[in-house]
Amino acid sequence: MFELPEFVTLSRQMNEALTGKTIAQGSLGNVPHKFVWYNRTHDEFERLTRGKVVGFSRSRGRWLFVPLDPGYVLLFGECGGKVLYHPAGSQAPARYHLSVTFEDGSALTATTQMWGAYELYEAGQEQDRQYVKGMRPTPTDPEFTFDYFSALVDSLVAGQKRSVKALLTQEQLIPGLGNATAQDIMFRACLHPRHPIAELDHNQRQALYGAILGTVRQVIDLGGRYDEFDLYGRPGGYVRLMDSKAAGQPCPECGTTVEKLQYLGGACYLCPRCQA
Ligand SMILES: [Zn+2]
Repeated sequence: MFELPEFVTLSRQMNEALTGKTIAQGSLGNVPHKFVWYNRTHDEFERLTRGKVVGFSRSRGRWLFVPLDPGYVLLFGECGGKVLYHPAGSQAPARYHLSVTFEDGSALTATTQMWGAYELYEAGQEQDRQYVKGMRPTPTDPEFTFDYFSALVDSLVAGQKRSVKALLTQEQLIPGLGNATAQDIMFRACLHPRHPIAELDHNQRQALYGAILGTVRQVIDLGGRYDEFDLYGRPGGYVRLMDSKAAGQPCPECGTTVEKLQYLGGACYLCPRCQA
């Protein structure tokens, strides 16, 4: 599944490849998928997108907003799989969940793996969508300062007991992060996934905050994770430190064998010596 860095990469590449193009035909796909969310019928989508011009995209958290001018915004939400650009004359995939062809013969397709939203809104109304409306600051927003982060932790400590992994991956507390990026953040911060956030001291909070910003920035700079694809079908350049390939191998810092742990709806990979 795409996380914040992959959405930043897709957005930047859409602005290189798609901005200014006029839509010849939009289609909501040719294969049914239970967990793809649409908010338009096929006919509506085709009619409303025809002749629209692609504006300047932007992403926030795990959401990507593509203006279709005049008057509409195409939204990609919490999706994974492949979102691909096809230059004129190249072969588009046979199966897809969204396709937009342009007057110059090029095309955009999206094929999701697990789930995802492909929705079309009248401009402005996309901001009222559930999960977009009221989204907390994300690690790439200027408001995501250490003071904000520390206050967020304080506000959560008062409620139910939460762990570091819960803070990083649940309820969009820090929008844009997911299970993949969280593994490397916890490793860099030397924190165990089960470490209660109520017990984080000032230095640990600073280490965790720094690891969030540093990891997200590095994955963005390298064009996403190596096991995800960009708009041109190329894998990202960021090789994860703590993933399934690391399990059973020596920790890159201390040489201790990396362990796998099932915790909070997904596998964790961690160094039992470095992370406490
Ligand atoms: Zn270690």
